[in-house]
Amino acid sequence: MHELNDETRALREKIFEYVRTRMEYDPVPLDYPSSEEELFANAGMTLTEQGLGGTKALEIFEQVLAPATISTDHPGFVSFIPNAATEAASLFDLVVSASSIYGGSWMEGAGAVFAENQVLRWLAAEVGLPKGAGGAFVQGGTVGNLSALVTARDSHREKLRAANKAVPEKLAFLASKESHSSLKAAAKVMNCELVLAEPNADGKLTGDSVAAALSYQPADSVFAIVATGGTTNFGIVDDLHGIGEIAKANHIWYHVDGAYGLAAILSPKYKHLFDGAELADSFIVDPHKWLFAPFDSCALVYREPELARAAHTQHGEYLETLTESGLWNPADYSFGLTRRTRGLPLWFSLATHGVAKYREAIEYNIDVTLEIARIIQSRDYLELVREPELSVVVFERKGWTLQDYNSWSDKLLKDEIGFVVPSSHNGRPNARFAVVNPLTSVELLTKILETMK
Ligand SMILES: *Cc1c(COP(=O)(O)O)cnc(C)c1O
Repeated sequence: MHELNDETRALREKIFEYVRTRMEYDPVPLDYPSSEEELFANAGMTLTEQGLGGTKALEIFEQVLAPATISTDHPGFVSFIPNAATEAASLFDLVVSASSIYGGSWMEGAGAVFAENQVLRWLAAEVGLPKGAGGAFVQGGTVGNLSALVTARDSHREKLRAANKAVPEKLAFLASKESHSSLKAAAKVMNCELVLAEPNADGKLTGDSVAAALSYQPADSVFAIVATGGTTNFGIVDDLHGIGEIAKANHIWYHVDGAYGLAAILSPKYKHLFDGAELADSFIVDPHKWLFAPFDSCALVYREPELARAAHTQHGEYLETLTESGLWNPADYSFGLTRRTRGLPLWFSLATHGVAKYREAIEYNIDVTLEIARIIQSRDYLELVREPELSVVVFERKGWTLQDYNSWSDKLLKDEIGFVVPSSHNGRPNARFAVVNPLTSVELLTKILETMK
């Protein structure tokens, strides 16, 4: 499809111009979703035998589709987990796209894989894993968790077989009741059980609770214990040390799900929250959540990557030349084969800005969160649901029903102030700010609180 002519050259300039304009917005338009009917009325059938031409197609994107697509990098987007990529990272994503890089194997992607591996090793060192730790960048935390758990299960089976022990029919892994939904999804596709342990009143899973839950499970049935390094709902970090000790004492794989929160280990001020992460056999952290990289990317790291290789390498006649090469093939460490080099935008941004800028930006996000929590506490119409630990704060507007939250949330978006969807805890509706965008300020969040009076 290489068709460099005057027309495609002109289109290239138009696309660059679009990118330039998008990156110059301050702030970016928040936008608002439309219905399929509305979109069809305005965009029409865009696929034709002859094609619309790039100019027309871009015009439809710019005028119809983009305005119906919420900008998750708007500073007032504080729902779910927002995405705030650095310009360096976003721009390099364009380079990745323009370079046709196959990231599954060293043979094809050596230079790019080398750069990604530097990032993975750096993350491993920050977490405290020994030299030799490594893994791959995958699509997202869900795939990262699944890949780590499959490795844990296979290693568990191998260990039992090597010891001439029977492999229990039903295997299980253990995590907190406050852990992420992706673990439930992993248990479902793996056809294994997820044992949910009770966190304490602060939402933190402790070693004692894990030990208690473990004591009810049949011998040799639990193949992994998962701790969460920053729950998605509240940003609470489990007792990583206490849980890690229990896992080690029982010779069970220890996985730390740090998709959202583990990035905060980079901050010297908050690093202590993650004491015990160094005990992990595997961990994940999503650059698209709190490492200022574009969608979508998850860093998946193993203490002993060889175990992942044994679990995940695909074998096929046309692949053996890669498999037998003895080279580092990222596809061998996760579920999946063909792979975009999803770690490269983060690598480029880190190489550009230096690591210190990341430490500062993350710390700033937490400082903003703690300050807005104080402001919430000081307002008589609001109530903090739980003291924040990282950059998520959850609070209630006294007297509001879910209906009140919904209509307030809709107006906030229509007024282009912010995007805050209602959340809930223990059946009670609430509001939740997740702060991972350095442009999200105390002033802006205060302005949002004002609209709740
Ligand atoms: C977001 C999240 C996940 C899932 O990550 P995706 O990239 O959305 O697939 C898993 N665990 C935690 C703790 C998360 O916050």
